Amino acid sequence: MHLLIIEDNRRIAQSLERGLTESGHTTQTAETGMVALSILKEQLVELVVLDLGLPDMDGMELLPEIRKLHPSLPVIILTARGEIESRVAGLDAGADDYLVKPFAFSELVARIRALERRNTRGVAPQIRIKDLMLNPIQRTAVRGATTLDLTPREFDLLLCLSQHTGEPVSREMLAREVWNITSRAVPFDNIMDVHMSNLRKKIDAGFAVKLIHTVRGIGFVLGDIQP
Ligand code: CA
Repeated sequence: MHLLIIEDNRRIAQSLERGLTESGHTTQTAETGMVALSILKEQLVELVVLDLGLPDMDGMELLPEIRKLHPSLPVIILTARGEIESRVAGLDAGADDYLVKPFAFSELVARIRALERRNTRGVAPQIRIKDLMLNPIQRTAVRGATTLDLTPREFDLLLCLSQHTGEPVSREMLAREVWNITSRAVPFDNIMDVHMSNLRKKIDAGFAVKLIHTVRGIGFVLGDIQP
């Protein structure tokens, strides 16, 4: 998983980065709430470790902002404040878990693992095709570090292709599933081509590996393949 550590204490942040990297995660650190928000707007983060005492804002103020951007992103609060009141407040504000400093590193790793399990079991699994990630519930798509600005129709097209990753999806199936058109008599190819061409620009332009391919005489396929 890719984790964002929001922690202004460099020593703690570095030891977290080191430990989490050793346990197979990738990490990046933000020392302020503002930096954290700009990272969360632009990059794919799968879990947040949040210190409550930040130089520019309180972590408890930051948490609702994180929730506005990513309603289901797992957040673990890390704090020296051990009082039961702040624990309850943190969970009320939308944290998924809570760890009081000083904590055993193995406990943090165990809790991250538990959140990871809960997420993969949850009702909103993310769909991943290479570096492209779709969230069917939030209806968001991210490729690499770029959040894609898709129209609802483009998202539906992409979702339909993603449910058959690596297999050609026929024009008939796309017309049926995305536009609800069941009759082949409707002249529809041009409209579909316009939407598909816009979608391809957004998904593939600027990336060396193209993910949407035309399968002549059939339709389209999503995946890192050469049809
Ligand atoms: Ca701090």
